[in-house]
Amino acid sequence: LSTDSDVVHRESESISKKSLRSNAEKFEFQAEVSRLMDIIINSLYSNKDIFLRELISNASDALDKIRFLALTDKDVLGEGDTAKLEIQIKLDKAKKIISIRDRGIGMTKEDLIKNLGTIAKSGTSAFVEKMQSSGDLNLIGQFGVGFYSTYLVADYIEVISKHNDDIQHVWESKADGKFAVSEDTWNEPLGRGTEIRLHLRDEAGEYLEESKLKRYSEFINFPIHLWASKE
Ligand code: ADP
Ligand code: MG
Repeated sequence: LSTDSDVVHRESESISKKSLRSNAEKFEFQAEVSRLMDIIINSLYSNKDIFLRELISNASDALDKIRFLALTDKDVLGEGDTAKLEIQIKLDKAKKIISIRDRGIGMTKEDLIKNLGTIAKSGTSAFVEKMQSSGDLNLIGQFGVGFYSTYLVADYIEVISKHNDDIQHVWESKADGKFAVSEDTWNEPLGRGTEIRLHLRDEAGEYLEESKLKRYSEFINFPIHLWASKE
């Protein structure tokens, strides 16, 4: 695609919540995922901070995976490994964005499309049914769809990811049945790993408080660094 469109994207950066990057390849969520997301986004479930548990545990899983690979192949960590095995959380109070970045295994383009667009497990329809009728979203992690709990607090999510076997990509969705994936030419290179940016809904501003993060950081075996901007 033309360089011109890249320049436009770089200027409007990732912060424009209104539209997905126009040159991105679009995909539809598997029907069950779409239904699950509808339930989540319209839920009155009050225990919304489960999304933190889910994202931190995904980051920790991703770090476990690269650490395991490094046992037999030191090269997977990259030169000098300046990118430590850690998790960084940033709270941007002015822009209402929470970002969680890990130095884990990352996802290729194919991984992003498969892992964040489909549920392969059997019994998915029954699970979605149960979630809807019980309203108990706490079950979400056990069924292996914890990522989507992010839509309890966000209405637009970007997943920026770099895996050793691929270039850096961005996955993005406003939970409207579609997601988009594109080569990431505007964010800073991650080196390796994943950054999840949650653009919070107006009413979810309370999750920008440092104190909320503490209880979910306790049982994680990797260092977690937290940055918070001033108002
Ligand atoms: P689960 O963790 O139980 O598999 P999730 O919905 O939380 O279910 O995540 C779905 C999948 O997305 C994970 O299995 C993993 O493959 C991928 N994924 C999510 N977050 C990350 C991350 N931070 N790094 C790498 N892969 C991730
Ligand atoms: Mg998970």
